[in-house]
Amino acid sequence: MESFSDAWGVICEYCKTKITDVAYKMWISRIEPIDLDFKTGKATLLVPNDFHKDTIERCYITLLDDAFREIFGTTFELCLITPEDKKTTVPEDSAKDAGSIYDYTFSNFIVGPSNTFAHAAAMAVAAKPADAYNPLLIYGSSGLGKTHLLYAIGNAIKKNNPDMRIQYAKGDEFINELVQAISNATTAEFKQKYRHADVLLVDDVQFIAGKNSTQEEFFHTFNALYEDHKQIVLISDRPPKDMKILDERLRSRFESGLIADLQPPDLETRIAIIKKKADILEVPVADELIVFIAQKIKTNVRQLEGVVKKLKARYLLNNEKITQAVVAEAISDILNNDSTPEQTVTKIIDEVARTFGVSSEDIRSKKSRQASINNPRHIAIYIIREITGLSMAEIGKIFGNLHHSTIVYTTKQVDKRMQTEPALRETVEDIMKNIRES
Ligand code: ADP
Ligand code: MG
Repeated sequence: MESFSDAWGVICEYCKTKITDVAYKMWISRIEPIDLDFKTGKATLLVPNDFHKDTIERCYITLLDDAFREIFGTTFELCLITPEDKKTTVPEDSAKDAGSIYDYTFSNFIVGPSNTFAHAAAMAVAAKPADAYNPLLIYGSSGLGKTHLLYAIGNAIKKNNPDMRIQYAKGDEFINELVQAISNATTAEFKQKYRHADVLLVDDVQFIAGKNSTQEEFFHTFNALYEDHKQIVLISDRPPKDMKILDERLRSRFESGLIADLQPPDLETRIAIIKKKADILEVPVADELIVFIAQKIKTNVRQLEGVVKKLKARYLLNNEKITQAVVAEAISDILNNDSTPEQTVTKIIDEVARTFGVSSEDIRSKKSRQASINNPRHIAIYIIREITGLSMAEIGKIFGNLHHSTIVYTTKQVDKRMQTEPALRETVEDIMKNIRES
């Protein structure tokens, strides 16, 4: 992690855990790290344009500040520049894409009781594509190694069968690509790309549920490949039976092969995972501290890895020796989630504001009555009602003293809309998931 771009990867990981995937992709993932100056305490970040810069300054600057403080243990002055500014101020250099820090392979994957079955199924598919289990569907909650296993399958197949065409797709990208293809009249190319694969690996397939034309296209892609005896691997955050708005034909396709789940790892597995990550990242962590981390962080491997990456950042950039205190600080943020209702409310409103690119103040204020604010405000009210257990009157107070009957009405309306607007439903669920997991 000698360069800023490696450290930036850790900052991105941090941000990812705090905001929705949609918000992350739209705003944070498009930032490029340019320069980090420890002497002046200044970090320079490149954003695509003025609009982006504006939104980051309005909605994400606190998040980024927190991320820098969290990762480096000190604050930085964040300097956002656009390609225009860059031409005049910054020499072409330093932090370009570092790629992933290491590969997702079977040899890097720690096997324990929580993932033995999924791991064995993935190995079998990698050894005999289209011959072992087809389709293979692996599901589990966030951060348990689904994407890791998917890439491990891809990497292993590629190694043993260099001629096989392996096609990756992510549920949400598949949707965007299809929409693009339709509007650019390039659906033939789109079909060519997916239907001529020997192995189709689909991450986060749950995103296509509820998107009708996408489900239709995916169904045909699936059938074309399946009938051609091509391997299909599907990753999802839940089993097909819980994908409520999934087309019945697709559901039965998904259920026709092997389904394997991933569970949170037990203590021994967590210890082994931290050891492995520390090894790969070349950061010296004493055994007793590894056990300490494993005892504290229990359900999410991404968080375990996040701690090791944070330690690595501290170690390399500040030359900090990794003591119990450093470790305790590195994990405190992850553990500090017993928030008060007020903190949760703030979190919810901030999260909704970010997702819709509006300000938290506008959401709270009764005065802003534009339609663009109303929708996020209603959603915030709904989520607060779902998550916090505050009374209708208490919720009304948060939004400039709205009458409790207005709150009742609003939550009912959102509930109704969610029945008929799958995109809204997904956004709401995505935000709630983020709040619950953060
Ligand atoms: P998911 O896709 O389920 O959200 P990922 O596959 O992205 O999770 O895993 C999150 C991180 O945790 C990745 O960096 C991955 O390498 C790591 N990880 C998860 N499970 C394991 C495991 N059993 N052994 C090693 N690393 C793991
Ligand atoms: Mg994943």
